[in-house]
Amino acid sequence: MKHIHMPKILKIDFDKPIPFKQQFAIMCTVLIISCMLFTVVYFQQLLSGNIATAGEPERAESKPAVQAAAEESSVSAPSQTSREDESKPGSAESHVTDIKEVGSDVLGNMTSVSKTYDDIHQGKLILVNKDYSCRLDGENVKSIFEAKSDSYVVTDRNVSLDMSIIENLNSMLDDFYSIYGESDIMVACGYRSYDTQVGLFNEEVESVGAQEAEQWVAPPGYSEHQTGYVFDLNLNIRGSAGIDYSGEGNYSWINENCPDYGFIIRYPSGKEEITGYSQEPWHFRYVGIPHSQYISDNGITLEEYFDIISEHKSNNPVLIEDHSGCRWCVYYVEAVEYGETNIPVPENYEYEISGDNYSGFIVTVKLG
Ligand SMILES: [Zn+2]
Repeated sequence: MKHIHMPKILKIDFDKPIPFKQQFAIMCTVLIISCMLFTVVYFQQLLSGNIATAGEPERAESKPAVQAAAEESSVSAPSQTSREDESKPGSAESHVTDIKEVGSDVLGNMTSVSKTYDDIHQGKLILVNKDYSCRLDGENVKSIFEAKSDSYVVTDRNVSLDMSIIENLNSMLDDFYSIYGESDIMVACGYRSYDTQVGLFNEEVESVGAQEAEQWVAPPGYSEHQTGYVFDLNLNIRGSAGIDYSGEGNYSWINENCPDYGFIIRYPSGKEEITGYSQEPWHFRYVGIPHSQYISDNGITLEEYFDIISEHKSNNPVLIEDHSGCRWCVYYVEAVEYGETNIPVPENYEYEISGDNYSGFIVTVKLG
């Protein structure tokens, strides 16, 4: 049997001075053990989420003083406080709005309302793109110059929007201002009439040619701006031409949180094939809650959302719980071509009916 020697470094005679070699070996051993212990503790902390990795957003740590003050302010309305909670970094990942299929019994007793075939072209959910033209042309729009809050500016007095969405816009930009104190946001363009679009499109064709023009400017009648539910943001930089707003830096708060005010980024990057447009981080479209939150949380376009909803009639509606916990039921009713359509609606819940602009109606019921 082989005799096993103790390692030399552990043979220490404390009556004699310790030779330098042994001193050095002891120090190295202590150092190695310390490094190992540190590594074990570090990885334990990392796995438990107490240490931020380099790729994580740092906005929470570098919160501007104005934001901190706004969050601590006791004058914040309860609804605003909940929006601020949701706006914190990471909320987009942690808050994904789901669709659940439910039975029609969730709607309770039903009755019906009648709509004409032309009505499919009306409402906040109408789909306007290169395939479906806009039939609205300024029926409910008004200048936002008098109605706007002080948190932003407009290009001129002619900037107009559908009256029903001005409050949502004010509320979103007021909240942005209260957090970051930036007041250089400018609403550059809202409703655009058919005639204005004719001029814009012709200018673009002259400038870049017919084929490329359609990538940037919608042909007359096919611009979402004609709905009155759309606006473009710009920055109020003196002497600048064109759009400076890119939705980055502090402004990313607007692009991330706009769904909580009913808006979506209509032309996101990576969806050019579906929307037909290059990405436009400055172009916002109102569709209302819960649609805006579902579309944004799931990274889909309005076109893709309609593909999902059109599969669900009133006998198998979908249930969407919004960011505040409110439950909504959404379903599709196909229109009777050139006739009257009887749309089933609940007797006991608030609801809204919108045309989809191509084949029917979408009913949004607020269950509460
Ligand atoms: Zn636009």
